[in-house]
Amino acid sequence: RELTVQLGERSYPIYIGEGLLDQAAFYFDKHGIGKQSPLLIVTDEQVGRLYLDKLESGLRAAGYRTVSAVVPAGEQAKSLLQFEELITIALKAGLDRKSAIIALGGGVVGDLAGYAAAAYMRGIRFIQMPTTILAHDSSVGGKVAVNHPLAKNIIGAFHQPAMVLYDLETLRTLPPREVSSGLAEVVKHGLIRSAEFVAWIDENADKLRALDPEALGYALYFGCRVKAEIVSQDERENDLRAILNLGHTIGHALEAVGGYGELLHGEAIAIGMVGAARIGVELGAPREVYEVTKRVLAKCGLPVRLPAHFDTDAIMDAMRHDKKFKEGRMVFIVPTAIGDVVIDKNMSAERVRRIVEQLK
Ligand code: NAD
Ligand code: ZN
Repeated sequence: RELTVQLGERSYPIYIGEGLLDQAAFYFDKHGIGKQSPLLIVTDEQVGRLYLDKLESGLRAAGYRTVSAVVPAGEQAKSLLQFEELITIALKAGLDRKSAIIALGGGVVGDLAGYAAAAYMRGIRFIQMPTTILAHDSSVGGKVAVNHPLAKNIIGAFHQPAMVLYDLETLRTLPPREVSSGLAEVVKHGLIRSAEFVAWIDENADKLRALDPEALGYALYFGCRVKAEIVSQDERENDLRAILNLGHTIGHALEAVGGYGELLHGEAIAIGMVGAARIGVELGAPREVYEVTKRVLAKCGLPVRLPAHFDTDAIMDAMRHDKKFKEGRMVFIVPTAIGDVVIDKNMSAERVRRIVEQLK
């Protein structure tokens, strides 16, 4: 399957299919990635062990020069330290303005490698090769960043990839918990844009969890399409793009309170989306918004309740650190129907607090 992300005059393709890792050289060549300048492949230890050789040997056989950088697996790799490490490798390997950086991995590798590509020589091309379900979201849209010890994703840029090459075969080695976590963002894309797609997930959740290639290919295609459409309309998050934050206001706070280890990103936003649905129903959405949201997420193997030991005060404190929080009011994405949301720029913290309490 193939999609195009259109951004004014510019555009880039998303390819989704089986065996694309082997055909990387073909797609690179097709989209003008030249063979004169070296390529830097960034991956993590886990993904590197599984797929780096395959990618490198294919590219080298086609005449590309490649170097690789393998970072530790996990969120801690999204640091300025690792960023500097990548720049050092890029310099030593002689990457120039015509080079490209390739992100082979999940959202962590994509964000880190993308930020390095955005900064190196004030920006060189980069190619996203996502290997997690979650990365269908992170690889499209051009937000790249590393973390600061005091705040996640706070050092970053908008830097669109030259191409997204999504090999579904790589997903077969994902641990089940990572599969479910990634499905949370798939469900999110349905909840903000398409009741039909949510109904389809409702029926096909088992297939998705079992990584059925046909079902997964369709789900990721649809998820990427929703993301691409929204980014096309609002690349820099002036307004519309904020709807992609459904479930994330509460979710980010839960990740922080759990020390970024207890809950995976998708798990935290699943609970956040259930909370948002409850608020939606309180404000007049049909009750099914809450029921369907909860049912579909549970079918995907996601938590829909807050672990009892999470402290409500700590969660509200974490939300207060969110940059969109002012005087007891916050920006909050509220479902109005399945497939539809509104941006509430004046949500009362008291209401959110009450809902968080009810999520236990
Ligand atoms: P991740 O990159 O850490 O991957 C999760 C784990 O799975 C890692 O341990 C990794 O080594 C392993 N893994 C990856 N692919 C594998 C495979 N095919 N087989 C076996 N193991 C594999 O995490 P993620 O969930 O993909 O991404 C989370 C990150 O994405 C967060 O840092 C988040 O901030 C970021 N994110 C960014 C955006 C954006 O728009 N830029 C959007 C959403 C999330
Ligand atoms: Zn997310």
